[in-house]
Amino acid sequence: MTTPTGDQALIKRINTAIVLECILRGAPLSRAQISEQSGLNKATVSSLVQDLIDGSLVREIGTGQSSGGRKPVMLEFVATSGYAIGIDLGVNYIRGALVDMRGEIVAERTSSLRDSEPGAAFEQLCGCIEALIAEAPASPYGIVGIGVGVPGIVDENGTILFAPNLQWRDVPLQRMLSERFGLHVTIDNEANAGALGEQKYGAGRSIANLVYVSVGIGIGTGLILHKSLYKGSAGYSGEMGHLSIEAHGLSCTCGNRGCWELYASEQALLKQASSLGFGDLEELLSAADSGRQDVLELFAGIGEYLGIGIANIVNVFNPDAVIIGNRMSQARPWLENSLRQTVVQRALGFHLRKVQLLFAELGERSAMMGAAEMAISGFFSRIKSA
Ligand SMILES: [Zn+2]
Repeated sequence: MTTPTGDQALIKRINTAIVLECILRGAPLSRAQISEQSGLNKATVSSLVQDLIDGSLVREIGTGQSSGGRKPVMLEFVATSGYAIGIDLGVNYIRGALVDMRGEIVAERTSSLRDSEPGAAFEQLCGCIEALIAEAPASPYGIVGIGVGVPGIVDENGTILFAPNLQWRDVPLQRMLSERFGLHVTIDNEANAGALGEQKYGAGRSIANLVYVSVGIGIGTGLILHKSLYKGSAGYSGEMGHLSIEAHGLSCTCGNRGCWELYASEQALLKQASSLGFGDLEELLSAADSGRQDVLELFAGIGEYLGIGIANIVNVFNPDAVIIGNRMSQARPWLENSLRQTVVQRALGFHLRKVQLLFAELGERSAMMGAAEMAISGFFSRIKSA
């Protein structure tokens, strides 16, 4: 047997990626079905499948229906071949999960962020990751990576340039975590992570163009265009929380004034609610649930301001869907009417015809699941280019 040339090795890598992709999307599948779907000949498919079986990524799971002749052996991806860590680092909480390679949650931890000073927050974050790693079952690939969604602007090296609501500047979180754990680490903005989470596991499945609006203490947005995350030229896109919606409005930590998030976020709600004696979102949700009129009016007001920003988004992007996520999605029953009315009043009619206004299916888990997905897809791209 001759050693493969560079071209042959490249072709094999590409074909392995094609076969793995077929199995990830469509399993259980037989070798013949993979051959049909991929256009690769049966001998090539058999040899690549054997490599994937030897690599513990694929296994045989008994026989399927025969279309005449011998019953085919079916194949599936081994979800427990490795595990990933997904973290949503919030302004006032840390939420993390250990998931298998299909995104099934194996362990989950949430805690409030005790001290948002970068050093202290980093130690608490590491504690959460260590606890999750300790819960991972033994597996061929172990922990394949750590993904973290953060409430700020992240550069291509995973450095948090600015997180206004945490008051962080220039925190090289990716380098800090990979030095600490010796694992692959991906850092992205929490709204980008949330958009990925909803696209892969939630309300955005099979939607090509969507805008995820993360409404928490601030507002961030993640754009999925033609099924992939759009990040802009340096990775900074999606800061729609700082759209100016009031020309002479309130001053914002970003240096501008009248920013959308000052009128439509959890922070905006809590500011207005403090004069009524409420301290957090949970209290307000239960007051709304018991029908308190003044609280219902507060939520309706937030819904209207959310609708103003979303009408702008709909006019600019003509998306298939806008998904409202993060903490404020819990207030759906009290926001939705005024939000929809406002969008209908303000967005252009042509743009409204097809757009769906959805709420996150994963609730507060969107960014955490998207962060885990960043780690999992990083592993697959390494496998496919190995
Ligand atoms: Zn701002």
